[in-house]
Amino acid sequence: MEKVNVKDLSRDELNQFLEGIGEPRYRANQIWDWLYQKYVHSFAAMSNLPRELRALLAERALISWPTLGKREEAAAGDAVKYLFVLSDGEAVETVLMRYRSWNSLCLSTQVGCAMACSFCASALGGKVRNLSPAEMLDQLLYVQAELYRQGDVPVTRVVLMGTGEPLENYANVMKFLRILHDPDGLNISYRRVTISTCGLVPGITALAQEGIPVNLAVSLHAPDDKLRDLLMPINRRYPLARLLEACREYVEATGRRITFEYTLIAGVNDSLEHARKLYRLLSGINCHVNIIPLNPVQERGFMPPKPPLVARFCNYLKEKGINVTQRRELGQDITAACGQLRRRKGRKGKIVGKG
Ligand code: SAH
Repeated sequence: MEKVNVKDLSRDELNQFLEGIGEPRYRANQIWDWLYQKYVHSFAAMSNLPRELRALLAERALISWPTLGKREEAAAGDAVKYLFVLSDGEAVETVLMRYRSWNSLCLSTQVGCAMACSFCASALGGKVRNLSPAEMLDQLLYVQAELYRQGDVPVTRVVLMGTGEPLENYANVMKFLRILHDPDGLNISYRRVTISTCGLVPGITALAQEGIPVNLAVSLHAPDDKLRDLLMPINRRYPLARLLEACREYVEATGRRITFEYTLIAGVNDSLEHARKLYRLLSGINCHVNIIPLNPVQERGFMPPKPPLVARFCNYLKEKGINVTQRRELGQDITAACGQLRRRKGRKGKIVGKG
């Protein structure tokens, strides 16, 4: 019989699992507490459970825990990048971003990515597979346990902006978010979670109905279909008119503001004409625009614009009354752009090339 990974179970499912082996409900609460408040990863360590139950649980179930393949800390101390090796030898990246008074974690949702954006390192090898809820939780739990040991403040914000397209792994991501949010466990407020999508319209529509008040960020990167088709192949399936209609409906259904991400690429999408078109495209939508100078990826050949051109683009939008922020760039020296660390490793977590 295949063992169930307890971190793939929702709270109800954990209750049912324990009922199924003749245990009272409060045992589920105890296990939940060990997993998500004490970051324990063996049943043997759950000292308030009877010895026989611990043995039975170890027979029927397992608790996953990632293996650290590599850990790189930025010189400025503002970012830490982890490469975790999963049980099948695949690897995912996670980035801890340290701000003055809180810690934020950028998680991966898939191994590789199928979306094939032309400037992104994650897309280079295509998609390998979805991550399970447990594999997403483990990225956070590992870092949470490390911060706890160091006496540091815990992660309180989570962004799904690592490798993968979260809305293509919809059911697992929703389950992960519900576990993440549980007040008796990790207790991360939905309002401090951001899902970033390349624009999967059915996923945006489903999320609008989900009733969980997370932040939605849509990666736009181009203000017209011709350019967006080139940069993001998903645009051929869901062109801008359909995407923005779904965004408007999302804002209407949830009452929440939407964020548009716009990665500036020198000579490609960074002119004043692009800014003008972007302004026209977004006018009338309750939104916020996050400008990200491209993080150059060796294999791609694109470069970020020089700072004055970034400023010109941002200022144009600001003058037009659009709410604009420029993403703070953390961890430049640790190849923290999506997918860059995983690209440099062999299949068993060994880093190949320069580390
Ligand atoms: N698949 C999701 C989330 C992962 S990528 C999405 O597309 O939104 C998170 C963000 O980083 C996206 O806006 C993505 O377009 C952007 N990104 C990818 N590669 C980048 C690079 N080299 N430089 C800057 N931003 C990049």
